[in-house]
Amino acid sequence: MSESTTTDEIESWLRELATDLTEPRPGECLLCFVARSLDEFGCDNQLRFACRFRDLRAPRAVGLERRLGQRGGFCDCEIFLNGWSVHSRLWSPEREVEREGYAEIIEAEPPEELPPCTGVRLGSTQPCGNWERRRRGW
Ligand SMILES: [Zn+2]
Ligand SMILES: [Zn+2]
Repeated sequence: MSESTTTDEIESWLRELATDLTEPRPGECLLCFVARSLDEFGCDNQLRFACRFRDLRAPRAVGLERRLGQRGGFCDCEIFLNGWSVHSRLWSPEREVEREGYAEIIEAEPPEELPPCTGVRLGSTQPCGNWERRRRGW
């Protein structure tokens, strides 16, 4: 086996590895992309998908990790635990149902599936309209 063959093999293996992960859709925002990727691959306790988004879509956003960290997002899932949540207008409303003669309050819930990303311009790391900042004190 010649040396160049080995290099080619490694290169094609690396390419396969890279395309294994989800790619941001055209116009998709950082948070929709990270949420979608977490759904599929889970969190590895790093900003794996946030950084991937940055590298692919917004390479000039070098302060991204720092900005997310300021919101408590030190890994992909913490972005959503501490920083942003699905916009409240997308939640099912709190409602009252009657069960066995008692009124029971069903609390507002986030949607099971995210609606499609409403879109951001290329190079932006801002969330789209599907997201809002978590209020402090939650
Ligand atoms: Zn995490
Ligand atoms: Zn979005």
